[in-house]
Amino acid sequence: MRIPRCLPAIALLLLPISRADVRGCLCDVAVPVTLDARDCGLCKEAEKQPADIQYFFLRDTNPVKQHRWLALPRFHGGHPQLLTDMTPEQRTGYWAAAIAKACEVWGDQGWGVALNGTEKRTQCHIHLHIGKLLPDYENDKFVVIDSPSEIPLPKDGDGVWIHPAGSRLHAHIEEQAGELKLER
Ligand SMILES: [Zn+2]
Ligand SMILES: [Zn+2]
Ligand SMILES: [Zn+2]
Repeated sequence: MRIPRCLPAIALLLLPISRADVRGCLCDVAVPVTLDARDCGLCKEAEKQPADIQYFFLRDTNPVKQHRWLALPRFHGGHPQLLTDMTPEQRTGYWAAAIAKACEVWGDQGWGVALNGTEKRTQCHIHLHIGKLLPDYENDKFVVIDSPSEIPLPKDGDGVWIHPAGSRLHAHIEEQAGELKLER
């Protein structure tokens, strides 16, 4: 069945305003009005960036998260955009860019980079949260790795968050809200 061109915009208008689940998002960058949906604000930010960059950073606009940064790809993906939408090279480049930003802001220890699970996402455009680690962040669900290319791909809808541990990295898995490990 062919979907009429105007359907995404109409469908978005019919969605309840309190909807927090981004899994049914219908935005289409070719139809700018569809990016006006609240859950698609980061797609709109990506479209404002120069076309020839791959990744970019934004300060978290939430006033209670002033010390946070977000790392985002310039390109779009599915609804929501997932790491599995990317090639291994894109994923590695994306994590590496976020790690470089974290080191630039907080130095080589004490920071974390978190991808929330799909249930906790409020934006369809993928975004990594970058921030300073809170005390007591550690738990036992992690793998020890040496480079961004080894960060495990989270299973269906799970999140993952990473932090430096000496000269290596911990990648914490099976986590929906890794963001909560970071200072606001
Ligand atoms: Zn969207
Ligand atoms: Zn997008
Ligand atoms: Zn750890």
